[in-house]
Amino acid sequence: MTMKNDWFEELNNKVCVITGGAGVLGTAMAASLASAGLRIALLDLDGEAAEREAKKIGPSHNATVIGIHANVLSKKSLEQAKKTVNETLGHVDFLINGAGGNAPGATTKVEQIRPDTGEDLVNGFFGLEEEGFRKVFDLNFMGTLLPTLVFGQEMVEHKKGVILNISSMNAFKPLTKIPAYSSAKASINNFTQWLAVHFGKTGVRVNAIAPGFFLTDQNRFLLTDQETGALTPRGEKIIASTPVGRFGDPEDLQGTVLFLLSDLSCFVNGVVLPVDGGYSAYGGV
Ligand code: NAD
Repeated sequence: MTMKNDWFEELNNKVCVITGGAGVLGTAMAASLASAGLRIALLDLDGEAAEREAKKIGPSHNATVIGIHANVLSKKSLEQAKKTVNETLGHVDFLINGAGGNAPGATTKVEQIRPDTGEDLVNGFFGLEEEGFRKVFDLNFMGTLLPTLVFGQEMVEHKKGVILNISSMNAFKPLTKIPAYSSAKASINNFTQWLAVHFGKTGVRVNAIAPGFFLTDQNRFLLTDQETGALTPRGEKIIASTPVGRFGDPEDLQGTVLFLLSDLSCFVNGVVLPVDGGYSAYGGV
């Protein structure tokens, strides 16, 4: 392949589905893909937010962007959304599995159990709610599996496509307090590799990005004080552990996402690429 200047030209007019598309990272990825000429469907549990964001991103990038209600935990809901995407935009070339997140019910109150301090055990592991754990695990893992089942098949039939999963720093080394999210994201890495091998001869590539720390609604309550907005001790630790010394800006993902969707990465398959300001490279000393 000879290098060209119009690197992303082949992406023009291609169709990309983004689940969790109304979220902070989903809308940022959609904006960069729209500027590269892709046609985009934002699928989100919050259908109104998906439509609202589509109406903002489309016109400002002179692109076709639609918002559709879909629940990534319901195959039926995803199949309905697929029908709308196919009727409106045609066949799907790319799927970004962006729906995911953590929740307070699956978060321990303390980082470590310290029996010596008389700390109540329910503040740690033993206080985790089964339902809360299941919800977070399912949203991140099943919420990637089901859209891949629904949207992957036509890519295989077209012998071309890219599936891009969203992992996390937690997948490499779990962060304290959030075991459901960590184990689900670790399973995303494993699933990304498994599927990349399984689809290896189909023309469909499967990769993941592992964003570092981006301040969004799902983690704001852990990283900043709700009243003052100041960094919590956990937020301070993260900044201290991120060699570039800041949280990520959602726009920081755009080059990596364009690269992994385009043919520039045609021999990149089954990787989990950190976009983390060096967090995963830093040993802390
Ligand atoms: P966000 O909360 O802003 O967006 C998530 C979106 O998913 C929301 O719009 C929400 O309505 C939607 N959603 C929730 N449940 C859904 C369901 N059942 N079906 C369909 N949509 C549903 O979060 P974000 O920060 O943009 O995160 C996007 C992805 O990136 C997630 O997988 C998250 O785990 C991952 N991630 C985020 C960070 C970060 O620092 N923000 C870091 C690493 C990984």
